Amino acid sequence: MKSLCILGSTGSIGASTLDVVRRFPGHFRVRSLTAGSNVKKLAEQAREFHPARVAVADQRKVKELRAQLDGWRGEVLAGDEAIRELAAEQESTYVVSAIVGAAGLLPTLSALKAGKLVGIANKEPLVMAGPLMQAAAEAAGATILPIDSEHSAVFQSARAGNRGELRKVILTCSGGPFRKASQAAMAAATKEVALKHPTWNMGAKITIDSATLMNKALEIVEAHFLFGVSYENIHVWVHPQSIVHALVEFTDGAVVAQLGLPDMRLPIQYALTYPERLDGGLPLLPLERMATLVFEEPDRRRFPSLDFAYGAGRAGGTAPAVMNAANEEAVRLFLDDRVRFTRIFDLVGGALGAHAVRPMDDLETVLDADRWAREEVRRLVRA
Ligand code: NAD
Ligand code: MG
Repeated sequence: MKSLCILGSTGSIGASTLDVVRRFPGHFRVRSLTAGSNVKKLAEQAREFHPARVAVADQRKVKELRAQLDGWRGEVLAGDEAIRELAAEQESTYVVSAIVGAAGLLPTLSALKAGKLVGIANKEPLVMAGPLMQAAAEAAGATILPIDSEHSAVFQSARAGNRGELRKVILTCSGGPFRKASQAAMAAATKEVALKHPTWNMGAKITIDSATLMNKALEIVEAHFLFGVSYENIHVWVHPQSIVHALVEFTDGAVVAQLGLPDMRLPIQYALTYPERLDGGLPLLPLERMATLVFEEPDRRRFPSLDFAYGAGRAGGTAPAVMNAANEEAVRLFLDDRVRFTRIFDLVGGALGAHAVRPMDDLETVLDADRWAREEVRRLVRA
């Protein structure tokens, strides 16, 4: 039986993971659950899934969590260090990495260093420190399994060929709420509009990233690190129906794709049951009732995000970490009503332009670049 540690259990991916667990009684044991600050939801999950240990990152919330869990028999922990400890403890065999943003880097690394099977939804750490995460996994014999739907689709499709036969990867994206918007409409977009995703229901940060296509930018770098494909062979197509999640092209020209409803439970389930496929009773794809599937080239002028990714990816070293951190900071400022929507592009582009790329020697270099980029974005906003 796989014994799970779910990092970020109270979020969108975390809750979907627990829904998959619920579908397979006797198959998984939930060993630990962690959250940032939503102690009410964490307590509800603890009462339903009976983990031995739970942790909340925000120390100020631990009292409230203990009160919520009065009479409960498990162990209650708090702080970032506790989360890293749960990710590495021997009693868990499988870690689901579903924290949002750079905050997931150290816990995910700690799981990899402990040699776990790690299902990764939390793409930002891979973008920041892909090579360090790979090295940690190799050294400890850990396995990384993609949960992000496009990367799960690449992973599933790539199994139709041998190693070395994969030539090209095509990631699809819905295009987000501004697929057909004018530049002026985008500049004036409110948070409410930007937070309305046409096909997926997700946490706030990734929803904004989907509206700017920064999510696809992060996914380009994620795909490069996960599958070892060069940047010129990673393509993005807009596909508003979100049914074909990714396609791969092999050396003989054959194209293989994975299709499914826009429902994260399927890629989560595949990562959890891999290499097996099991029937979890998820809704099936009624492809025969779908009118048309459309594929378009993205508008690289209105969405400069994709070029940020190719540029930062090719520059390598600390550049992807800067792209990621500048974006996280810019999204936070947008959600706080401090900058307008299209300023996100200026801020990410500005930070990347001002950054002197350094080789990624160690974790400290990455964390330095992350801090620098956030400060640079705040400086640009003050200026
Ligand atoms: P979310 O905001 O719904 O949930 C984030 C989780 O992380 C919550 O449990 C929160 O408590 C926890 N958290 C936040 N800050 C933390 C901190 N500082 N320390 C510890 N825990 C913290 O986000 P989500 O939509 O579930 O996305 C999670 C990750 O998965 C992101 O990296 C996202 O890009 C990726 N992803 C999400 C989807 C999706 O459909 N939601 C799809 C593909 C990939
Ligand atoms: Mg995705």
